[in-house]
Amino acid sequence: MALKDYRRDMETCRRCSPCKFMPLEKVTGFDRINVCPSISRYDFHSYSAGGRMVMGTALLEKRLDYTDKLLEVIYNCQMCGACDTSCKYSMDMEVFESLDEIRISCVEAGHTNPALDKVIKSLRKQGTMVPGAKIKRGDWAAGLNLKDCSAEKVEVLFHVGCQTSYNKNMWKVARATAKILKKAGVDFGIGGENESCCGGRAYHMGYKQDFLDQSKKNLVLIKKSGAKTLVTGCADGYNTFKVLYDKFGLKGKLEVLHITEYFARLIKEGKLKPKKAVNMTVTYHDPCYLGRQGEPYIHWKGKEVLGDLRTFEPPKLYRRGMYGVYEPPRDVLKSIPGLKIVEMDRIKEYAWCCGAGGGVIESNPEFAMWTANERIDEAGSTGAEAIATACPWCELMLGQSVKSKGSNLAVYDIVELLEKAV
Ligand code: SF4
Ligand code: SF4
Repeated sequence: MALKDYRRDMETCRRCSPCKFMPLEKVTGFDRINVCPSISRYDFHSYSAGGRMVMGTALLEKRLDYTDKLLEVIYNCQMCGACDTSCKYSMDMEVFESLDEIRISCVEAGHTNPALDKVIKSLRKQGTMVPGAKIKRGDWAAGLNLKDCSAEKVEVLFHVGCQTSYNKNMWKVARATAKILKKAGVDFGIGGENESCCGGRAYHMGYKQDFLDQSKKNLVLIKKSGAKTLVTGCADGYNTFKVLYDKFGLKGKLEVLHITEYFARLIKEGKLKPKKAVNMTVTYHDPCYLGRQGEPYIHWKGKEVLGDLRTFEPPKLYRRGMYGVYEPPRDVLKSIPGLKIVEMDRIKEYAWCCGAGGGVIESNPEFAMWTANERIDEAGSTGAEAIATACPWCELMLGQSVKSKGSNLAVYDIVELLEKAV
C-alpha cells in the first residue's frame, strides 16, 4: 500500500472535526474532552487528522510541496490514533493508516526530521531506538539465570524492548517480569544481546523499510526459539508484533500477548496468586498502542463500488479501537488485595496520549512534556496516589512530567505493583 491507495479515505474527510474530541456520548466531565494533543497544543486545523488529510491529498496532487512548515506539522503528531477512533465513531475511513502513509511518503521522498534520523541511525547501527546506549541489551538480566532463547527452545519468548533494555531506570520492570514468570513456572527465555528492536516506532515515524529490516531479524530469533507465544511489556512492541506483523503477513501462528494479558491469564488459572496487600489508590493510564492501536488487524480484500457513497464489495470492516487491550491490565490491578482503582475522564479508546509517541519525544521534547503534563493533571484530579501504566515509554514520559511539575503522584508499571503482591 502507498499514500495513493488512501486517496479516497483522505477525500472522504468532511472537515467536521470529531477527530479532535471525544464523542459527546462518551464525555464524562466538562474539563477534558480533547483527544488530539496536536490540535490541542497548536490550535490550527492543519495540526489535526483532518488537516493532515487535506495535506495528504494536496501532496498527491502536487498542490503542496514538502516545505519545512508542512514537515513541522506532519511530525508534530504523536501518532496516538485517538483521531482514528473518534472519527470512526461515525465515519468509515482509514484515518490512522493515512497518517502513517503520509509520513512514509515523506521519508521515501527524502524529507525527514533530523531528530528522527538520529534515532534511525542508532537503529541501523545498534538495533535500538535509544541512541547513545552504552550498555548491552541483555545487561538488565544479570544474575537472574534466564534461558537464552537464541540457543535453547522455550514455550514463551519474553521480548523486553529498547526502552526497558537500555534505560537502567526501567530494568526493575524487566527483572520483576522475569521473577513473576519464574514464580508461575513458565518455560520462558529472552533474546538478550540477540534481541533487536521490533521496528514499530520506526514504522510510525515513516521509516517503513527499517521496520521491515527489523522484522527479518526478529523472525529469525522467534523461529530459533521455537516459542509459540511472544510476550512483551512494551505497548509499542505489542502493536508491532500483534498488528503490524499481521498486516504485513509476517505473524504466522505466533500468539502475541502483552504481559498484562499473560499475567491476567495466569491469575485466572490460579498459577499466580497475588496475596500481599498493596494499600494504594491507583489510576490507570491506557497506553495508546496497547489500547486503541492494540486492536487486532482486520484483513480485507475486495473492491470499492463506485458511486457517491463509499461502499465495498464485500463489505469492509474497520478497526475502531474498542477491541484493544483494556480489561486485562485492570484485571491484574483488581487482583491485588488492598489496591483501589479510580478512573480518569479519558480512558480506554479515548485515553489521552502520554506524549512519547510518533517520535515526538525525540523531535519536540517540549510538546511531549506538555502532553504528559496534561495527563498528570488529569491523573491528579482523581485523587489517586499513583498512576500505573503498562509501557516503558509511558512510564518514562509520565515520570519526567511528575518530576518537572513537583507532583506527589508515584508512577508505576503494573508489573511492579504485581510483584509487590506476589
Ligand atoms: S478526519 Fe474524520 S472527524 Fe476529522 S475532519 Fe475528517 S472526517 Fe471529520
Ligand atoms: S495521531 Fe494523535 S496527535 Fe496525531 S492527529 Fe491523531 S489524535 Fe492528533
